Amino acid sequence: MKRRLPKPKIPGSADRTVLKRTVILMMLLGVLVFIPLVGKLCYLQIFQFDELSRMAMDNQTRTSNITPSRGTIYDRNMNVLAVSADVENVCIDPNELSLSGQDLPMIAENLASLLDVSEDRILKLMEDTSYRYQIIKRKVEAEEALAVREFLSDNGISGVYLEPDTKRYYPGGTLAAQVLGFVGSDNVGLDGIEAALDTVLTGQAGSVETAKGNYGAEMEFHYEEISDADRGSDVVLTIDAQAQEILEKHMTEAVKQYDVQNGAFGVIMDVNTGEILAMATLGSYDPNRYSDILDLDTAKALEQQYREAMEAEGELRQQLLSAYNTAVANARLEQWRNRVISDGYEPGSTFKTITLAAALETGAVSLNNHYFCGGTTTVKGRTRALRCWKTAGHGSQDTAQALQNSCNVAFAQIGIALGGEQLYDYVKAFGLMEKTGIELYGEASGIFFDEATLTNPDSYASLSSAAFGQTFKITPLQLVRAISAVVNGGYLLEPHVVKETLDSEGNIIRSTQRTVLRQVISEETSKTMCSLLESVVSVGTAKNAQIAGYSIGGKTGTSEKIDVRDENGNQVDDKIVSFVGIAPMEDPQVVCLVALDTPSKFTGYYISGGQMGAPTVRDVLAELLPYLGMEPAREAVLDTTVPNVVGLTAAEAGTALTEASLTYRRVGEGETVTDQVPLEQAVIPSGSEIILYFGEEYDNLEVTVPNVVGRNAEDANLLLSQAGLYMKIIGATGDGTIQAVSQEPAAGSAVEKGAVIAVEFSDLSAKD
Ligand SMILES: [Zn+2]
Repeated sequence: MKRRLPKPKIPGSADRTVLKRTVILMMLLGVLVFIPLVGKLCYLQIFQFDELSRMAMDNQTRTSNITPSRGTIYDRNMNVLAVSADVENVCIDPNELSLSGQDLPMIAENLASLLDVSEDRILKLMEDTSYRYQIIKRKVEAEEALAVREFLSDNGISGVYLEPDTKRYYPGGTLAAQVLGFVGSDNVGLDGIEAALDTVLTGQAGSVETAKGNYGAEMEFHYEEISDADRGSDVVLTIDAQAQEILEKHMTEAVKQYDVQNGAFGVIMDVNTGEILAMATLGSYDPNRYSDILDLDTAKALEQQYREAMEAEGELRQQLLSAYNTAVANARLEQWRNRVISDGYEPGSTFKTITLAAALETGAVSLNNHYFCGGTTTVKGRTRALRCWKTAGHGSQDTAQALQNSCNVAFAQIGIALGGEQLYDYVKAFGLMEKTGIELYGEASGIFFDEATLTNPDSYASLSSAAFGQTFKITPLQLVRAISAVVNGGYLLEPHVVKETLDSEGNIIRSTQRTVLRQVISEETSKTMCSLLESVVSVGTAKNAQIAGYSIGGKTGTSEKIDVRDENGNQVDDKIVSFVGIAPMEDPQVVCLVALDTPSKFTGYYISGGQMGAPTVRDVLAELLPYLGMEPAREAVLDTTVPNVVGLTAAEAGTALTEASLTYRRVGEGETVTDQVPLEQAVIPSGSEIILYFGEEYDNLEVTVPNVVGRNAEDANLLLSQAGLYMKIIGATGDGTIQAVSQEPAAGSAVEKGAVIAVEFSDLSAKD
């Protein structure tokens, strides 16, 4: 709530000149109907000027706005993401204070300590008695407000007021920060949904107009006119807070694990409705305190910059301070940025999905085509040889293998077979040259080749690069929407982040409908693409996206940051690695894209979408799919809970363990089981072997976890079982290039015999 003291309007000569011009203009235009009104204005403003301005100085009306309660933002399951609560502003009337004869330094000192604000600042505000209204502190919560009230009444102080206001709270902190945005101190939405739907959320301000004499004296007549505020509408997003949390959690882990230098972005979309379930950009910020720089390194660097400025003197200090302020402003813009919609990036090999869908749809290639990759090839119009990511080459491949291998040489051939005109048409049809129209500000539209370049009959240079996703940019949202169309039967959808708006009684005012813009490929081509994308995960470069019990499809991508240059103008070897995953492939429901911007070269991991993006999306989907009610297939390797068999005979114990999908080994010669490892309630992989003791007591022996990193699954399992431990496999299964890349607990840890060691396996050949 704001209380403004209107400045007396003193019509000056400029106003009168304008008025005269207006009168002349109106007469010329023949707007005779305005003449009586203009006449009255002339009379008031010109002839009665002195009289009226004297009266205005004497009498003033004070208008207080009643801030309407801002609507609540919910996730799709009505979890609160943003809500307004009543708070108060502490204000003073310097004019009144100055005339009251009170002990102003005492008041300032107490207010400063109660409100934790600068005493000097309060005194300064008190000094300028031409003001009738100054805010000492905004958005004070109940406890602080009560303390101020008590201080005021205990000391009989006048000229200090509390006025109602509202404050925006984001209970999830950083959760979905860039989607939600934030509101400024004046309750206006400044970013995200708060800005895009500001008018919907804001409602209608009310007001209290009070006539008051100067210096707060009561007037002979008194009036107060109140018009009520209308509460803003509530907004229900398509975002699922749980899905958002899962996405952000695994992105954060990936940033840590691969020491990612420039943040990450990710999005989860319902492929059949276009609804966004989660949308995240890291590093993020907390909308509750949106000005604070949350990235620790950035905050530290800024602090250092500020210290250096303060140590300098005179002109230099001013320069350094100004540079510091610019740096702070940039850091804020950076953390507020929603990269899923605002930043184009080079999609790399994830784009091969689009090229192949178009090539199959038009009949430019079929599944029976063959391509030879010798590691490099020459392309008409290209000065340098085109290289495949696999230097030794992929040899002879059919169409499915070309996608599984993510072979650049094969995709250059597929692109050329498709032709520039058709590739251009399909890129356009898949919505990659237009904004998606999502309900958020700041959406970019991507930068694709112009038609003439792509269709140049004398050079296939651009066409071949475009075919495997290089040297152009699209937004992550454009990509997931296009991929959704590839797997959902061919339908390009309008993406949405807003599901419904509700009135104050909870009635739906507006609800978003599924909107198909066009069918880009046939249902049949879409089915073919689904099985091809599934094979990329089962046998191709994305084995690291495998999840036991689920059919996952997807495509890896590793792309260079084409426009990042070092100080000498040379291209910097920074990479964005990504994976776009789809599940379940028998009836696709969700697509999830995660991209990591510039993983460190020093973590020991090979920098590729297959080795960094795929496992990240795997971890997201492994948690998301059961949450969304998609159960894993029963035949999959699952965990089981160990039953208690102590006291049973060997035969009885055997039956109980078989029922729990476990095997056993006996130790000792007794009649009944006297102890077991692991103990009951332990959760271990199905098919594991339990040790049963007959006649001996087992004394909880501690064992040391062996190192299995670098081993294949068979060797790792052998090492662990020799130590009396169990292995839970995470990630890729199969032979050859798959080996353990991490384990938890770490090698050398002391654990109880029978403990389960989680071992992550990775396909190290996944270099795209
Ligand atoms: Zn190749």
